[in-house]
Amino acid sequence: MRILITGGAGFIGSHLAERCLREGWTVSVIDDLSTGSFENIAHLKGCPTFDYTIDTVFNAPLVSELIDGCDLVFHLAAAVGVRLVVDSPVRTIETNIHGTEVVLNAAAKKGKRVVIASTSEVYGKSAKVPFREEDDLVMGPTSIGRWSYACSKALDEFLGLAYFYEKHVPVTVIRLFNTVGPRQTARYGMVLPTFVRQALLHEPITVFGDGKQRRCFGYVLDVVEALARIAKSPQTAGEIINIGNDQEISIGGLAGQVRAQLGSSSEIVFIPYKDAYGEGFEDMLRRIPSVAKLERLVGFRPHTPLPAIIDAVAQEMTAREAVASCTAAATSAPEAILEHA
Ligand code: UDP
Repeated sequence: MRILITGGAGFIGSHLAERCLREGWTVSVIDDLSTGSFENIAHLKGCPTFDYTIDTVFNAPLVSELIDGCDLVFHLAAAVGVRLVVDSPVRTIETNIHGTEVVLNAAAKKGKRVVIASTSEVYGKSAKVPFREEDDLVMGPTSIGRWSYACSKALDEFLGLAYFYEKHVPVTVIRLFNTVGPRQTARYGMVLPTFVRQALLHEPITVFGDGKQRRCFGYVLDVVEALARIAKSPQTAGEIINIGNDQEISIGGLAGQVRAQLGSSSEIVFIPYKDAYGEGFEDMLRRIPSVAKLERLVGFRPHTPLPAIIDAVAQEMTAREAVASCTAAATSAPEAILEHA
């Protein structure tokens, strides 16, 4: 199979590229490196069944050409991270909606399969956990920037399913819940790499709000396993599928667990949401996926336990720090250390 991954130099995209190559598939990646990093795919460069293009998904002629050469597109290119969404709403909305339009339009011309990455954010403020794919989406007002991410992704879903029904394009929508693991950067505010980095540096661990909000963390290697199985299952066309781990932990609990597991002396501090994200920010209290549909369709569900994930993230961050220290020593730029984490 020939696979195109938009956003393939990102955290999930790069792991997915490796997973697909292991399957014996040919993999092309397009990424504008806005939030992805060339470092994530540099090790794949010598592989004869791998190629990459550094460009934006807004480049419609290029995307058309890349889609012509593949059987299935994983459309992962999107604005990521609550911090980016709150700080750059125009970019969020345009990237998410226009990028998906370009990909679907090109795929429709040749009837190529498309897997669109959506997000658990679309469930919004729904309190009916676990979230099932057919549940109502409960969004907040348009005056609160955070909801632009959920709404733009919900529109991507509508568009994908419209192409499926009206133009018979085999589109599958996946809703990714909090996905974590090596290569995820703390730069865009995601909680696990942030806490691990803070614990490794013995800096205060910053819990936003009262820490009672709960999340489920899915290991990235489990997530890409699910995606590879979806690629092998054409009957998933027209479906919306949750992908995540259904084991819950509070964010306060996560801070304690990271600190204990990494033997850190960090103190845990509580920061009001308004100081973290600005006035009027709304957080979700609980977000648990129902993975029954995923399991039924592809016979797999993310299962890696949190302690193993924390270890993997800490190990990779420490290794990256060693490389950064080395580079900093060579260039006398000590500030490079842990900047990349
Ligand atoms: N969070 C936190 N401290 C941080 C970053 C995030 O307490 O330094 C909280 C955030 O408010 C949310 C949870 O951790 O309740 C998960 O945040 P993340 O941005 O990773 O993902 P989200 O679930 O919000 O999309």
